[in-house]
Amino acid sequence: MNMQQINEHNYVFLSSVNIGYVHEGNQGMIIDAAIDKSSIRKVVRQIEAQNLPITHLLITHAHSDHYGGAKYLQDVYNVKVIAPKFEATILQHPILEPTYLFMGNDPLDELRNKFLEGPSIEADIVIDEGDHQIDEFQFEAIATPGHSYNQLAIRIHDTLFAADSYFGEKELHKHKIPYITSVYKTMDSLEKLKSFSANGAVPGHGNYEENFIKTIERNIEYHQDLLHRLYCIIQDKQPISHEELVSIFCDEMSVNASQLSMFLLFRTAATAYITALIQQEKIDHYIQRHRWMFQIKEEEGT
Ligand SMILES: [Zn+2]
Repeated sequence: MNMQQINEHNYVFLSSVNIGYVHEGNQGMIIDAAIDKSSIRKVVRQIEAQNLPITHLLITHAHSDHYGGAKYLQDVYNVKVIAPKFEATILQHPILEPTYLFMGNDPLDELRNKFLEGPSIEADIVIDEGDHQIDEFQFEAIATPGHSYNQLAIRIHDTLFAADSYFGEKELHKHKIPYITSVYKTMDSLEKLKSFSANGAVPGHGNYEENFIKTIERNIEYHQDLLHRLYCIIQDKQPISHEELVSIFCDEMSVNASQLSMFLLFRTAATAYITALIQQEKIDHYIQRHRWMFQIKEEEGT
């Protein structure tokens, strides 16, 4: 994970989860805090080696791979923490992520791991979309829900720090079924970013690219393809239960979901596509013998 300079102010640490850094006079803002203390320490060591300041931390969304190291930064560097509203509540009560993934039940102990729950952190400044001036930093926060409820991408000094609004093309195919909570919101966020001008963009997972529009278009196509695949499974197997549909979809996409936590992430993403088909009125859904069932909607007049 090497520190790469993007322009006079902006830097990026490309890794499995990318970290941004913005330098402004005697202040320095880290964007996202990696999954744990040891990962973020690799980042701060390189910033310190360049004699650059660490004063602020901006968290784009409340997934532990983006905030697990935040408490360490707050404790050791006394950084001012900036986070999106709603996400800030999850950061303060991080058990909410394993809870919502576990369909609202109190999560089993095995779900309370560092991949689903980081150390609790209280944001000093809670923000929403729009233009902001926080101390030396002037930036635009762009609402990009769909992957997380109120995720914010950040445009600062003409670089788009895109959070997990889109994935690098290689990462899309690696994840197979990217984690999303809503297809509509994901697509709206992607369309919004497609018309965005910036000298380059850093996704949470993937490479820094100047021509990032092409990658955003790949993401849109990828989600459309998954939505179509799910529709075809329903067409083929209808009426089909939610459990069976998730199982066949995960099999078809060859995902590895052997553990409960992984399964719950894929189950949520699959349900986002199912929800979109219901909203598009392409499928009917009903409860039959305590199972959530789906079938293709019959067109009127046929
Ligand atoms: Zn995420």
